[in-house]
Amino acid sequence: MTKTFETYFEKAFHHAVDFRKTVEDNQPLPKASHEELYESLGGPLSDAGEKGDVLIDHLAKYATPGILQMSHPQFYGWVTGSSHPVGVAADWLTSAWGQNTGMYVATPAASVVEDVVGEWVVGLLGLPKESSVGFVTGATVANFVGLAAARSEVLRRVGWDVEEDGLWGAPKIHVFIGEDAHATVYSGLQYLGMGRNQVIKIKADINGRMNPEELDRALLEYKGPKIVIAQAGQINSGCFDPFDAIVPLCKREGAWLHVDGAFGLWANASPKLKHLSKGVEGADSWATDGHKWLQIPYDCGFVIVKDHVAHQRAMKIQASYLHGEIAGRRDPSQFVPELSRRARGFAAWAVLRAFGRGGVINMVENHCALAKRLEKNLGKISGIEVLNDVVLNQLAVGFGQGLSAEIQDKLTLSVLKKLSEKNECVVGGADWKGRWIMRISVITFLTTKGTIDEFSKMIECAFKEVKESIL
Ligand SMILES: *Cc1c(COP(=O)(O)O)cnc(C)c1O
Repeated sequence: MTKTFETYFEKAFHHAVDFRKTVEDNQPLPKASHEELYESLGGPLSDAGEKGDVLIDHLAKYATPGILQMSHPQFYGWVTGSSHPVGVAADWLTSAWGQNTGMYVATPAASVVEDVVGEWVVGLLGLPKESSVGFVTGATVANFVGLAAARSEVLRRVGWDVEEDGLWGAPKIHVFIGEDAHATVYSGLQYLGMGRNQVIKIKADINGRMNPEELDRALLEYKGPKIVIAQAGQINSGCFDPFDAIVPLCKREGAWLHVDGAFGLWANASPKLKHLSKGVEGADSWATDGHKWLQIPYDCGFVIVKDHVAHQRAMKIQASYLHGEIAGRRDPSQFVPELSRRARGFAAWAVLRAFGRGGVINMVENHCALAKRLEKNLGKISGIEVLNDVVLNQLAVGFGQGLSAEIQDKLTLSVLKKLSEKNECVVGGADWKGRWIMRISVITFLTTKGTIDEFSKMIECAFKEVKESIL
Protein backbone atom coordinates (compact mmCIF):
# COMPACT_ATOMS: atom_id res chain seq x y z
CA MET A 1 0.00 0.00 0.00
CA THR A 2 1.33 3.43 -0.81
CA LYS A 3 1.88 5.76 2.09
CA THR A 4 -0.46 8.75 2.29
CA PHE A 5 2.24 11.25 1.43
CA GLU A 6 3.03 9.35 -1.75
CA THR A 7 -0.58 9.70 -2.85
CA TYR A 8 -0.46 13.47 -2.35
CA PHE A 9 2.82 13.84 -4.17
CA GLU A 10 1.65 11.65 -7.04
CA LYS A 11 -1.55 13.61 -7.39
CA ALA A 12 0.36 16.88 -7.47
CA PHE A 13 2.78 15.42 -9.99
CA HIS A 14 0.02 14.32 -12.39
CA HIS A 15 -1.85 17.61 -12.14
CA ALA A 16 1.36 19.55 -12.76
CA VAL A 17 2.22 17.42 -15.80
CA ASP A 18 -1.31 17.83 -17.21
CA PHE A 19 -1.07 21.56 -16.75
CA ARG A 20 2.30 22.01 -18.43
CA LYS A 21 1.47 19.60 -21.28
CA THR A 22 -1.46 21.67 -22.42
CA VAL A 23 -0.08 25.18 -21.86
CA GLU A 24 0.87 25.78 -25.47
CA ASP A 25 -2.58 24.87 -26.79
CA ASN A 26 -4.42 26.88 -24.19
CA GLN A 27 -5.61 30.42 -24.07
CA PRO A 28 -3.25 32.13 -21.67
CA LEU A 29 -5.65 34.33 -19.69
CA PRO A 30 -7.59 32.95 -16.71
CA LYS A 31 -11.06 31.70 -17.56
CA ALA A 32 -12.72 31.79 -14.16
CA SER A 33 -14.22 34.96 -12.71
CA HIS A 34 -13.50 36.18 -9.22
CA GLU A 35 -16.95 35.00 -8.10
CA GLU A 36 -16.42 31.53 -9.57
CA LEU A 37 -13.03 31.18 -7.90
CA TYR A 38 -14.33 32.43 -4.59
CA GLU A 39 -17.24 30.06 -4.72
CA SER A 40 -15.26 26.96 -5.71
CA LEU A 41 -12.29 27.58 -3.41
CA GLY A 42 -14.09 29.30 -0.52
CA GLY A 43 -16.69 28.30 2.02
CA PRO A 44 -16.28 27.68 5.75
CA LEU A 45 -13.28 25.73 6.99
CA SER A 46 -14.46 22.30 8.13
CA ASP A 47 -14.11 21.31 11.76
CA ALA A 48 -12.71 17.88 11.12
CA GLY A 49 -10.33 18.66 8.27
CA GLU A 50 -10.47 16.98 4.86
CA LYS A 51 -8.69 14.18 3.05
CA GLY A 52 -5.44 15.35 1.46
CA ASP A 53 -5.86 13.50 -1.85
CA VAL A 54 -9.37 14.86 -2.32
CA LEU A 55 -8.40 18.42 -1.58
CA ILE A 56 -5.36 18.31 -3.89
CA ASP A 57 -7.71 17.19 -6.70
CA HIS A 58 -10.11 19.97 -5.75
CA LEU A 59 -7.34 22.56 -5.75
CA ALA A 60 -6.08 21.50 -9.18
CA LYS A 61 -9.56 21.43 -10.66
CA TYR A 62 -10.77 24.78 -9.35
CA ALA A 63 -7.57 26.86 -9.16
CA THR A 64 -6.34 26.00 -12.67
CA PRO A 65 -9.08 28.08 -14.38
CA GLY A 66 -7.79 31.04 -12.38
CA ILE A 67 -4.18 30.59 -13.47
CA LEU A 68 -2.59 33.10 -15.83
CA GLN A 69 -0.30 31.00 -18.00
CA MET A 70 3.02 32.72 -17.50
CA SER A 71 4.82 29.77 -19.04
CA HIS A 72 2.94 30.32 -22.33
CA PRO A 73 5.16 31.02 -25.37
CA GLN A 74 3.00 34.05 -26.23
CA PHE A 75 3.47 35.65 -22.84
CA TYR A 76 4.90 39.19 -23.01
CA GLY A 77 3.21 40.73 -19.97
CA TRP A 78 5.23 42.67 -17.40
CA VAL A 79 8.77 41.25 -17.11
CA THR A 80 7.74 37.83 -16.00
CA GLY A 81 9.83 34.66 -16.29
CA SER A 82 8.24 31.31 -16.84
CA SER A 83 9.42 28.86 -14.16
CA HIS A 84 11.76 26.45 -15.92
CA PRO A 85 10.67 22.82 -15.35
CA VAL A 86 14.05 21.82 -13.90
CA GLY A 87 13.65 24.59 -11.37
CA VAL A 88 10.11 23.45 -10.62
CA ALA A 89 11.38 19.93 -9.94
CA ALA A 90 14.10 21.23 -7.61
CA ASP A 91 11.51 23.43 -5.95
CA TRP A 92 9.34 20.39 -5.22
CA LEU A 93 12.31 18.75 -3.55
CA THR A 94 12.89 21.92 -1.56
CA SER A 95 9.33 21.73 -0.27
CA ALA A 96 9.66 18.04 0.50
CA TRP A 97 12.85 18.71 2.48
CA GLY A 98 11.06 21.50 4.35
CA GLN A 99 14.17 23.43 5.30
CA ASN A 100 14.04 26.52 7.45
CA THR A 101 16.89 28.42 5.86
CA GLY A 102 18.03 30.65 8.70
CA MET A 103 21.23 29.17 10.09
CA TYR A 104 24.02 26.96 8.82
CA VAL A 105 23.56 24.44 11.64
CA ALA A 106 19.89 24.02 10.76
CA THR A 107 20.39 23.54 7.05
CA PRO A 108 23.96 22.91 5.84
CA ALA A 109 23.03 21.90 2.27
CA ALA A 110 20.84 24.97 1.69
CA SER A 111 23.57 27.17 3.10
CA VAL A 112 26.30 25.67 0.91
CA VAL A 113 24.09 25.84 -2.19
CA GLU A 114 23.61 29.56 -1.55
CA ASP A 115 27.37 29.99 -1.36
CA VAL A 116 27.76 28.13 -4.64
CA VAL A 117 24.93 29.88 -6.51
CA GLY A 118 26.06 33.24 -5.14
CA GLU A 119 29.51 32.66 -6.66
CA TRP A 120 27.97 31.64 -10.00
CA VAL A 121 25.70 34.69 -10.11
CA VAL A 122 28.48 37.12 -9.20
CA GLY A 123 30.78 35.43 -11.73
CA LEU A 124 28.21 35.46 -14.55
CA LEU A 125 27.39 39.11 -13.92
CA GLY A 126 31.06 40.09 -13.78
CA LEU A 127 30.69 41.78 -10.37
CA PRO A 128 33.44 42.07 -7.71
CA LYS A 129 34.33 38.62 -6.39
CA GLU A 130 34.35 39.67 -2.75
CA SER A 131 30.64 40.62 -2.88
CA SER A 132 28.14 38.93 -0.57
CA VAL A 133 24.80 37.68 -1.86
CA GLY A 134 21.42 37.49 -0.15
CA PHE A 135 18.66 35.20 -1.49
CA VAL A 136 15.46 37.22 -1.36
CA THR A 137 11.94 37.05 -2.77
CA GLY A 138 12.71 39.34 -5.69
CA ALA A 139 14.19 42.64 -6.76
CA THR A 140 11.84 44.64 -4.52
CA VAL A 141 13.41 43.14 -1.41
CA ALA A 142 16.83 43.12 -3.06
CA ASN A 143 16.50 46.89 -3.55
CA PHE A 144 15.44 47.23 0.07
CA VAL A 145 18.44 45.27 1.33
CA GLY A 146 20.92 47.06 -0.94
CA LEU A 147 19.60 50.41 0.24
CA ALA A 148 19.70 49.26 3.89
CA ALA A 149 23.41 48.45 3.46
CA ALA A 150 23.88 51.83 1.76
CA ARG A 151 22.12 53.66 4.58
CA SER A 152 24.18 51.82 7.19
CA GLU A 153 27.51 52.53 5.54
CA VAL A 154 27.09 56.18 4.55
CA LEU A 155 25.97 56.96 8.12
CA ARG A 156 28.74 54.88 9.71
CA ARG A 157 31.25 56.96 7.79
CA VAL A 158 29.98 60.09 9.54
CA GLY A 159 29.99 58.39 12.95
CA TRP A 160 26.33 57.37 13.17
CA ASP A 161 25.14 53.83 13.98
CA VAL A 162 21.74 53.58 12.33
CA GLU A 163 21.14 49.96 13.39
CA GLU A 164 21.42 50.90 17.08
CA ASP A 165 20.28 54.50 17.11
CA GLY A 166 17.80 54.73 14.25
CA LEU A 167 17.25 57.77 12.06
CA TRP A 168 16.04 60.31 14.63
CA GLY A 169 18.79 62.85 15.00
CA ALA A 170 20.93 61.23 12.30
CA PRO A 171 22.69 63.35 9.68
CA LYS A 172 20.47 63.71 6.63
CA ILE A 173 21.20 61.36 3.73
CA HIS A 174 20.68 62.81 0.26
CA VAL A 175 19.30 60.26 -2.19
CA PHE A 176 19.70 60.85 -5.94
CA ILE A 177 17.57 58.90 -8.35
CA GLY A 178 16.71 58.91 -12.06
CA GLU A 179 13.20 60.19 -12.77
CA ASP A 180 12.24 56.94 -14.53
CA ALA A 181 13.33 54.60 -11.72
CA HIS A 182 11.18 51.58 -10.89
CA ALA A 183 8.42 51.97 -8.30
CA THR A 184 9.93 49.36 -5.98
CA VAL A 185 13.06 51.43 -5.39
CA TYR A 186 10.75 53.95 -3.77
CA SER A 187 9.28 51.11 -1.71
CA GLY A 188 12.77 50.41 -0.37
CA LEU A 189 13.19 54.06 0.59
CA GLN A 190 9.75 54.02 2.16
CA TYR A 191 10.52 50.97 4.38
CA LEU A 192 13.88 52.45 5.41
CA GLY A 193 12.50 55.72 6.72
CA MET A 194 14.21 57.66 3.97
CA GLY A 195 10.94 58.82 2.47
CA ARG A 196 9.62 58.67 -1.07
CA ASN A 197 9.53 62.46 -1.32
CA GLN A 198 13.00 63.05 0.09
CA VAL A 199 14.78 62.12 -3.13
CA ILE A 200 16.50 64.40 -5.60
CA LYS A 201 15.20 63.38 -9.01
CA ILE A 202 17.61 63.49 -11.92
CA LYS A 203 16.20 64.15 -15.39
CA ALA A 204 16.14 61.28 -17.85
CA ASP A 205 16.01 61.22 -21.64
CA ILE A 206 13.28 59.90 -23.92
CA ASN A 207 14.33 56.30 -23.20
CA GLY A 208 14.45 56.86 -19.43
CA ARG A 209 18.23 57.14 -19.18
CA MET A 210 19.53 59.31 -16.35
CA ASN A 211 21.41 62.44 -17.45
CA PRO A 212 24.90 62.27 -15.88
CA GLU A 213 25.58 66.02 -16.21
CA GLU A 214 22.45 66.70 -14.17
CA LEU A 215 23.60 64.18 -11.60
CA ASP A 216 27.00 65.83 -11.47
CA ARG A 217 25.43 69.24 -10.78
CA ALA A 218 23.05 67.86 -8.17
CA LEU A 219 25.80 65.99 -6.33
CA LEU A 220 27.86 69.18 -6.06
CA GLU A 221 24.93 71.06 -4.61
CA TYR A 222 24.49 68.90 -1.49
CA LYS A 223 26.85 68.11 1.38
CA GLY A 224 26.89 65.09 3.67
CA PRO A 225 26.10 61.37 3.21
CA LYS A 226 24.84 60.49 -0.28
CA ILE A 227 23.24 57.52 -2.01
CA VAL A 228 22.78 57.35 -5.79
CA ILE A 229 20.27 54.90 -7.27
CA ALA A 230 20.70 53.93 -10.91
CA GLN A 231 19.14 51.21 -13.04
CA ALA A 232 20.09 48.56 -15.53
CA GLY A 233 16.99 47.88 -17.62
CA GLN A 234 14.17 50.43 -17.44
CA ILE A 235 10.84 48.66 -17.00
CA ASN A 236 9.30 50.06 -20.22
CA SER A 237 12.24 50.79 -22.50
CA GLY A 238 14.93 48.38 -21.23
CA CYS A 239 17.49 51.21 -21.32
CA PHE A 240 20.50 51.56 -19.01
CA ASP A 241 21.74 54.48 -16.99
CA PRO A 242 25.26 55.49 -18.11
CA PHE A 243 27.26 53.75 -15.40
CA ASP A 244 30.65 54.60 -16.86
CA ALA A 245 29.80 58.28 -16.31
CA ILE A 246 27.95 57.81 -13.00
CA VAL A 247 30.50 55.62 -11.19
CA PRO A 248 33.35 58.21 -11.17
CA LEU A 249 30.93 60.89 -9.92
CA CYS A 250 29.89 58.64 -7.01
CA LYS A 251 33.52 57.84 -6.20
CA ARG A 252 34.39 61.54 -6.20
CA GLU A 253 31.56 62.27 -3.75
CA GLY A 254 32.00 59.18 -1.57
CA ALA A 255 28.41 58.33 -2.50
CA TRP A 256 27.08 54.76 -2.35
CA LEU A 257 25.84 53.63 -5.76
CA HIS A 258 22.99 51.11 -5.77
CA VAL A 259 21.83 49.55 -9.05
CA ASP A 260 18.35 48.19 -9.69
CA GLY A 261 19.03 45.57 -12.33
CA ALA A 262 16.02 43.30 -11.87
CA PHE A 263 16.31 41.93 -15.40
CA GLY A 264 18.70 44.25 -17.27
CA LEU A 265 21.74 43.40 -15.18
CA TRP A 266 21.93 40.10 -17.09
CA ALA A 267 23.13 42.03 -20.13
CA ASN A 268 26.42 42.24 -18.28
CA ALA A 269 26.78 38.46 -18.60
CA SER A 270 26.85 38.70 -22.40
CA PRO A 271 29.93 39.78 -24.36
CA LYS A 272 27.56 41.10 -27.06
CA LEU A 273 25.40 43.17 -24.71
CA LYS A 274 27.90 44.18 -22.05
CA HIS A 275 28.47 47.56 -23.68
CA LEU A 276 24.97 48.53 -22.47
CA SER A 277 25.90 48.12 -18.82
CA LYS A 278 29.48 49.31 -19.15
CA GLY A 279 30.92 50.30 -15.78
CA VAL A 280 28.14 48.70 -13.72
CA GLU A 281 30.63 46.60 -11.77
CA GLY A 282 31.90 49.84 -10.21
CA ALA A 283 28.72 50.19 -8.09
CA ASP A 284 28.42 49.22 -4.40
CA SER A 285 25.25 47.12 -4.48
CA TRP A 286 23.01 45.48 -7.07
CA ALA A 287 19.51 44.05 -7.07
CA THR A 288 18.53 41.42 -9.60
CA ASP A 289 15.96 38.69 -10.09
CA GLY A 290 16.23 34.97 -10.58
CA HIS A 291 12.56 34.61 -11.41
CA LYS A 292 12.62 36.99 -14.37
CA TRP A 293 15.25 36.40 -17.01
CA LEU A 294 16.77 33.28 -15.43
CA GLN A 295 13.36 31.50 -15.45
CA ILE A 296 13.84 30.28 -11.87
CA PRO A 297 10.44 29.53 -10.27
CA TYR A 298 8.89 32.18 -8.06
CA ASP A 299 10.17 33.52 -5.80
CA CYS A 300 13.83 34.23 -6.35
CA GLY A 301 15.86 37.42 -6.23
CA PHE A 302 19.46 38.26 -5.41
CA VAL A 303 20.91 41.21 -3.55
CA ILE A 304 24.62 41.59 -4.12
CA VAL A 305 26.72 43.89 -1.93
CA LYS A 306 30.40 44.57 -2.48
CA ASP A 307 31.02 45.41 1.19
CA HIS A 308 29.84 42.29 2.99
CA VAL A 309 30.40 43.93 6.38
CA ALA A 310 27.88 46.67 5.59
CA HIS A 311 25.50 44.07 4.15
CA GLN A 312 25.60 41.89 7.27
CA ARG A 313 25.52 44.84 9.65
CA ALA A 314 22.29 46.06 8.04
CA MET A 315 20.60 42.62 8.23
CA LYS A 316 21.91 41.27 11.51
CA ILE A 317 19.48 39.48 13.84
CA GLN A 318 20.59 39.09 17.46
CA ALA A 319 19.21 36.52 19.91
CA SER A 320 20.99 34.03 22.13
CA TYR A 321 18.88 31.04 21.11
CA LEU A 322 20.03 31.41 17.54
CA HIS A 323 23.11 29.31 17.24
CA GLY A 324 26.38 31.24 17.22
CA GLU A 325 27.97 31.74 13.85
CA ILE A 326 30.55 29.20 12.79
CA ALA A 327 33.58 30.78 11.17
CA GLY A 328 33.58 30.29 7.42
CA ARG A 329 30.01 28.95 7.40
CA ARG A 330 27.14 30.87 5.90
CA ASP A 331 24.13 31.71 8.04
CA PRO A 332 21.69 32.54 5.21
CA SER A 333 19.66 34.87 7.44
CA GLN A 334 22.58 37.29 7.77
CA PHE A 335 22.06 38.59 4.26
CA VAL A 336 18.28 39.03 4.16
CA PRO A 337 15.54 40.52 6.35
CA GLU A 338 13.93 37.18 7.26
CA LEU A 339 15.02 34.62 9.80
CA SER A 340 12.83 31.70 8.63
CA ARG A 341 12.38 31.28 4.93
CA ARG A 342 12.39 28.95 1.97
CA ALA A 343 15.64 27.41 0.71
CA ARG A 344 15.43 29.22 -2.60
CA GLY A 345 19.00 28.36 -3.53
CA PHE A 346 18.13 24.82 -4.66
CA ALA A 347 15.88 25.84 -7.57
CA ALA A 348 18.39 28.50 -8.61
CA TRP A 349 21.18 25.89 -8.49
CA ALA A 350 19.19 23.53 -10.72
CA VAL A 351 18.22 26.11 -13.34
CA LEU A 352 21.73 27.54 -13.59
CA ARG A 353 23.23 24.06 -13.96
CA ALA A 354 20.61 23.18 -16.60
CA PHE A 355 21.39 26.27 -18.68
CA GLY A 356 25.11 26.45 -18.01
CA ARG A 357 27.02 29.66 -18.50
CA GLY A 358 26.59 29.59 -22.28
CA GLY A 359 22.91 28.75 -21.97
CA VAL A 360 22.18 31.80 -19.85
CA ILE A 361 24.09 34.07 -22.22
CA ASN A 362 22.40 32.54 -25.29
CA MET A 363 18.95 32.96 -23.82
CA VAL A 364 19.52 36.62 -22.95
CA GLU A 365 21.03 37.35 -26.36
CA ASN A 366 18.28 35.40 -28.11
CA HIS A 367 15.52 37.36 -26.36
CA CYS A 368 17.19 40.62 -27.39
CA ALA A 369 17.45 39.39 -30.98
CA LEU A 370 13.77 38.39 -30.89
CA ALA A 371 12.86 41.86 -29.60
CA LYS A 372 14.73 43.34 -32.58
CA ARG A 373 12.88 40.99 -34.92
CA LEU A 374 9.58 42.13 -33.45
CA GLU A 375 10.63 45.76 -33.85
CA LYS A 376 11.36 45.07 -37.51
CA ASN A 377 8.06 43.25 -38.04
CA LEU A 378 6.04 46.01 -36.40
CA GLY A 379 7.99 48.70 -38.26
CA LYS A 380 6.49 47.39 -41.51
CA ILE A 381 2.92 47.99 -40.37
CA SER A 382 1.70 51.47 -41.15
CA GLY A 383 0.36 53.35 -38.14
CA ILE A 384 2.38 51.36 -35.61
CA GLU A 385 5.34 53.01 -33.98
CA VAL A 386 8.03 51.49 -31.78
CA LEU A 387 8.76 54.36 -29.42
CA ASN A 388 11.90 53.21 -27.62
CA ASP A 389 15.38 52.34 -28.83
CA VAL A 390 15.16 48.56 -28.68
CA VAL A 391 18.47 47.81 -26.98
CA LEU A 392 17.32 44.92 -24.82
CA ASN A 393 14.15 42.81 -24.61
CA GLN A 394 11.58 45.59 -24.11
CA LEU A 395 9.35 47.32 -26.64
CA ALA A 396 7.18 50.36 -26.03
CA VAL A 397 4.68 50.49 -28.88
CA GLY A 398 2.24 53.23 -29.86
CA PHE A 399 -0.67 53.05 -32.31
CA GLY A 400 -2.07 55.66 -34.69
CA GLN A 401 1.16 57.35 -35.74
CA GLY A 402 0.49 60.90 -36.94
CA LEU A 403 -2.98 61.13 -35.37
CA SER A 404 -3.93 63.26 -32.37
CA ALA A 405 -2.62 62.25 -28.92
CA GLU A 406 -6.15 61.50 -27.80
CA ILE A 407 -6.86 59.17 -30.73
CA GLN A 408 -3.49 57.49 -30.30
CA ASP A 409 -4.25 56.68 -26.66
CA LYS A 410 -7.70 55.45 -27.61
CA LEU A 411 -6.29 53.21 -30.34
CA THR A 412 -3.56 51.81 -28.07
CA LEU A 413 -5.97 51.01 -25.25
CA SER A 414 -8.43 49.48 -27.72
CA VAL A 415 -5.76 47.26 -29.29
CA LEU A 416 -4.80 46.06 -25.79
CA LYS A 417 -8.43 45.30 -25.05
CA LYS A 418 -8.93 43.52 -28.36
CA LEU A 419 -5.86 41.32 -27.81
CA SER A 420 -7.06 40.44 -24.36
CA GLU A 421 -10.49 39.46 -25.74
CA LYS A 422 -8.89 37.27 -28.37
CA ASN A 423 -6.84 35.65 -25.60
CA GLU A 424 -4.00 34.30 -27.72
CA CYS A 425 -1.20 36.30 -26.11
CA VAL A 426 -0.53 38.38 -23.02
CA VAL A 427 0.72 41.99 -23.23
CA GLY A 428 0.37 44.94 -20.94
CA GLY A 429 -0.03 48.69 -21.15
CA ALA A 430 1.58 51.62 -19.38
CA ASP A 431 1.49 55.38 -19.29
CA TRP A 432 4.96 56.24 -20.59
CA LYS A 433 6.28 59.74 -21.21
CA GLY A 434 2.78 61.17 -21.36
CA ARG A 435 1.05 58.62 -23.57
CA TRP A 436 -0.36 55.10 -23.44
CA ILE A 437 1.84 52.37 -24.81
CA MET A 438 1.71 48.66 -25.33
CA ARG A 439 4.58 47.22 -23.25
CA ILE A 440 6.15 44.07 -24.56
CA SER A 441 8.72 42.03 -22.64
CA VAL A 442 10.38 39.18 -24.51
CA ILE A 443 11.44 37.09 -21.54
CA THR A 444 9.93 33.61 -21.73
CA PHE A 445 12.32 30.83 -22.69
CA LEU A 446 9.60 29.23 -24.87
CA THR A 447 9.36 32.24 -27.19
CA THR A 448 10.91 31.64 -30.61
CA LYS A 449 11.18 33.34 -34.01
CA GLY A 450 7.99 31.55 -34.99
CA THR A 451 6.02 32.73 -31.99
CA ILE A 452 7.33 36.28 -32.47
CA ASP A 453 6.11 36.29 -36.08
CA GLU A 454 2.71 34.97 -35.05
CA PHE A 455 2.56 37.60 -32.33
CA SER A 456 3.32 40.36 -34.87
CA LYS A 457 0.35 39.12 -36.93
CA MET A 458 -1.90 39.12 -33.87
CA ILE A 459 -1.01 42.77 -33.22
CA GLU A 460 -1.49 43.71 -36.88
CA CYS A 461 -4.85 42.03 -37.01
CA ALA A 462 -6.10 43.55 -33.74
CA PHE A 463 -4.97 47.00 -34.91
CA LYS A 464 -6.80 46.59 -38.21
CA GLU A 465 -10.03 45.60 -36.49
CA VAL A 466 -9.76 48.44 -33.99
CA LYS A 467 -9.09 50.99 -36.74
CA GLU A 468 -12.14 49.82 -38.64
CA SER A 469 -14.37 50.34 -35.63
CA ILE A 470 -12.84 53.61 -34.36
CA LEU A 471 -11.62 55.64 -37.33
C1 LIG B 1 10.44 43.61 -11.67
C2 LIG B 1 11.27 44.76 -11.30
C3 LIG B 1 11.47 45.11 -9.96
C4 LIG B 1 10.76 44.38 -8.85
O1 LIG B 1 11.14 43.06 -8.81
P1 LIG B 1 10.26 41.92 -8.13
O2 LIG B 1 10.98 40.68 -8.49
O3 LIG B 1 8.90 42.03 -8.74
O4 LIG B 1 10.24 42.17 -6.67
C5 LIG B 1 12.33 46.16 -9.68
N1 LIG B 1 12.93 46.84 -10.66
C6 LIG B 1 12.76 46.55 -11.96
C7 LIG B 1 13.48 47.34 -13.00
C8 LIG B 1 11.93 45.49 -12.32
O5 LIG B 1 11.77 45.18 -13.62
